[in-house]
Amino acid sequence: MASEIPKLFGTSGIRGKVVEEVTLELAVDVGMAVSTHIRGENFIQNDLKNTENLNNTKKGLNTKKGKKPKCKVVVGYDTRTSSEMLENAVVSGILQCGCDVLRLGMAPTPLVGYATMKLGANAGIMITASHNPPEYNGIKLWNPDGMAYRQEQERKIETIIHRKTFSKASWKEIGKIKDVKGIRSRYIADLVGSVDIKPGLKVVLDCANGAASHISPLVLRKAGCSVVTINSQPDGFFPGRMPEPSPQNLHELMKVVKATGADIGIAHDGDADRMVAIDENGRIADFDKLLALISREIGGKVVTTVDASVCTDRCMKEVGGEVIRTKVGDVHVAEAVARENASFGGEPSGTWLHPDFCMCPDGILSALRVIELVQKNGPLSKLLDMIPSYPTIRDKINCKKSQKKMIMARVEAELPDMFEGVVDVNRIDGVRISMKDDSWVLIRPSGTESYIRITLEAVNEAKAVKIRNKCADFIEGCL
Ligand code: MG
Repeated sequence: MASEIPKLFGTSGIRGKVVEEVTLELAVDVGMAVSTHIRGENFIQNDLKNTENLNNTKKGLNTKKGKKPKCKVVVGYDTRTSSEMLENAVVSGILQCGCDVLRLGMAPTPLVGYATMKLGANAGIMITASHNPPEYNGIKLWNPDGMAYRQEQERKIETIIHRKTFSKASWKEIGKIKDVKGIRSRYIADLVGSVDIKPGLKVVLDCANGAASHISPLVLRKAGCSVVTINSQPDGFFPGRMPEPSPQNLHELMKVVKATGADIGIAHDGDADRMVAIDENGRIADFDKLLALISREIGGKVVTTVDASVCTDRCMKEVGGEVIRTKVGDVHVAEAVARENASFGGEPSGTWLHPDFCMCPDGILSALRVIELVQKNGPLSKLLDMIPSYPTIRDKINCKKSQKKMIMARVEAELPDMFEGVVDVNRIDGVRISMKDDSWVLIRPSGTESYIRITLEAVNEAKAVKIRNKCADFIEGCL
């Protein structure tokens, strides 16, 4: 049955081209479905409480007379040209099904997660397409603790939308809108209070004309940094650069860091759940090395994905820490952080989760933590250079979609015995084997395309090529 219900959510919420895929109608439906869903959950919880009361008192409890607690949904949106339209549609849907809306207006994703948690809301909704081009938009849902909706929760929303089982409120139960005041300054104060930065560090900040354009510069200044901003006026056409903080989009930032003699450059993606750093020489910080640096600084138990470099493991070994690996995707990282009670979770993309603050990835807090680290131990170039890097190969082998299962079954069975000195086999997302000398290889099927991906890191170039060839020959031999 469940498989007949079309999937709307991808790896990071609903995402697609506006008008064609992400429509006004879909936004209304998502608002109505979330409102229906959380009222249902709340009803079940209250019903359980009432049953307990009934058993305790042995008297009848007139639930009709008992005041129903109002469900609340925090809503925010990014700078895209379509975001206000979609936000209004989502808000209307929520009200129609009887929940109140706590309206944030334009806000970075981490503020939506934070506000959902701090305001005791039943859910949060963010209108954003994160790092995608301007013609895209999307909808991402958040739990009361600031964690993204899990797959099974997204399936419930998809089911309500597909079956149109919305519970519409009567005229007297329609929700109300409250424009939220004060949460922004509380968020800024909490961010600044969570780090120890002394005045004097010079930072160049590139907000991609995105949702953190107002907040991030303010946070860094309040924390004591001297800040030069570029692309920090909200603009849904992204005239400064595209919102993906990839090396090819950050040339201007790299130049400005060098030209102004800054200590560090920081770039956000469009909704600022991510952060990328530039060192004082204008070089982009290797994503894996930066993740390793911050993991070592935080220490304890850290979570990262199966495709992240082994340099995090090496850094964590130095401080007696532990690395837990999960499937690729920020929701998987968040779930593992919660389950393992970890101190930090991060993907090499720069999506980092700081559970001592909130369960929503936060690019502004990540920037503060890197700046704090640079002030304490920097310069950044020196810190990065001290982390040894091994040759890495990322490759893909074409195959038919129908062959993926058969190939992965053979990889499962045979990969662990194909190499000498295998010390660990991880099957959480494809098959990843680690060897005694720290070399490793991951073979996993592409989620959407007709490829099998090979990702590896080896102690030297020759070994890297050897591993690559052996894996590629094996996969091609399966076809
Ligand atoms: Mg993002």
